[in-house]
Amino acid sequence: MRLTTRLLAASALAVSGTLALVAPAGAQDAATVERAAAIRDAALSRNIALDYVTQITTRFGARPAGSHSEQQAAAWAAGYMREHGFQNVRIEQFPLVGWERGEESAAVLGDHPQRLVVAALGHSPGTNGVIEAEVVRFETLEALNAAPAGSLAGKIAYVDPGQMVRMQDGSGYGPLTRIRGAGPAAAAAKGAVAFVIRSVGSDEHRMPHTGTTRYVDGVVPLPGFALAAPDADQLSRLIAMGGPVRISLSSTAHTYQTVSQNVVGEITGATRPHEVIVLGSHMDSWDLGTGAIDDAAGGAITLAAAKTIAESGRRPARTVRVVLYGSEEVDQPTNTGNGGGAYLRGIGSEVENHIIAGESDFGADRIYALGLPPGAQGSDFAKAAGRVLYPIGVLPSADPELHGGADIGPLAGAGVPVFGLNQDGTRYFDLHHTADDTLDKIDPAQMSQNVAAWAALVWLIADSDVDFRAMRPAAQAAH
Ligand SMILES: [Zn+2]
Repeated sequence: MRLTTRLLAASALAVSGTLALVAPAGAQDAATVERAAAIRDAALSRNIALDYVTQITTRFGARPAGSHSEQQAAAWAAGYMREHGFQNVRIEQFPLVGWERGEESAAVLGDHPQRLVVAALGHSPGTNGVIEAEVVRFETLEALNAAPAGSLAGKIAYVDPGQMVRMQDGSGYGPLTRIRGAGPAAAAAKGAVAFVIRSVGSDEHRMPHTGTTRYVDGVVPLPGFALAAPDADQLSRLIAMGGPVRISLSSTAHTYQTVSQNVVGEITGATRPHEVIVLGSHMDSWDLGTGAIDDAAGGAITLAAAKTIAESGRRPARTVRVVLYGSEEVDQPTNTGNGGGAYLRGIGSEVENHIIAGESDFGADRIYALGLPPGAQGSDFAKAAGRVLYPIGVLPSADPELHGGADIGPLAGAGVPVFGLNQDGTRYFDLHHTADDTLDKIDPAQMSQNVAAWAALVWLIADSDVDFRAMRPAAQAAH
């Protein structure tokens, strides 16, 4: 707290003219904050991130979890890190059940046959030929769960909760992924032979959004499909016109045993290298697009931020570690935590020296808010960070950051504080998990703003002795 008080004072010097408040303080801290502003501006004027995201999406295309493509991309990314001055670069493998989409199709049967645009849901089994059956529509998962036992015997369960609500913070997504995850098991429990969900996305295109479904007791019991939004509207209208509607579904998807891997590299701290700040994102993508926004962009942003810090003329006191996590997108028969879980198991007791972790996994559009761990918001550190980030449009979030995302979630669960640099997700779910997730959707200027925010914030943490665990309110410090 002592240091951060001086950080606050020093920041007033660094961004003089924006929000200057307090008298000058220690030269060391003033230098840290001044350098944060310089690092921020350096990141804005270059575009290192664009090089990485262009190369990885162009060289490897889609990078499904555990695929040869993901493995090759990981090896290439490790080389990229070494080339760009990262230290202790390593690849850490872990076993994975992979999933491969095969051929898939769907159609309305009867007097006026119509093709439907679908995508099999990740980790759902194939159909073993063609399923032809009557569709029963539900608007909610609760309604499906409330259907009488056996009432869906030989039928296809179809859940259409309506279009996803478009929100800047992406909060429309969570309630619908719950249906995607739990739907197949819920449908199987009523005797259904397949599960169809209205594609989880905010667009109005015939571009279905895939995504993982959930294992229950080690299995995904039914083939599951996402139905593109206009096709979902069409099917729902047909059902509303009365009379049974029959459709066909086929998929040759299958699972296989493979390995995935985390790629780790760091800018080693100058004076306290054992104190680690983790910058996370994921290497894998869905198979339909090239995974530019989900999540090559996150790797690009975090790598570029660390590189900008490394090239600022002085290494920070603490270590900045970039982790490109493997296989974030898929559920597994047993809960291993995928790349995030493998990383946590790998570091063992070193977790105590993890100062904080952050994750970039929401595209590349501009960052608008900073969420800090409980107790840190409103602190002197937060005020210093606020002054450095305000000029690029990043304001303090009203809510503390508690859990991070899927990659750093296991670290958060083990007591590591997390931060969030919240991106504008207004258009993210138009593209997410679709064939349209491609490089052209990245706006280089907005991606640079991301790098600037990450680089400046991470520098402030890495070159200070700010201790987020000590700031945690007593009620949450049970760890
Ligand atoms: Zn992602």
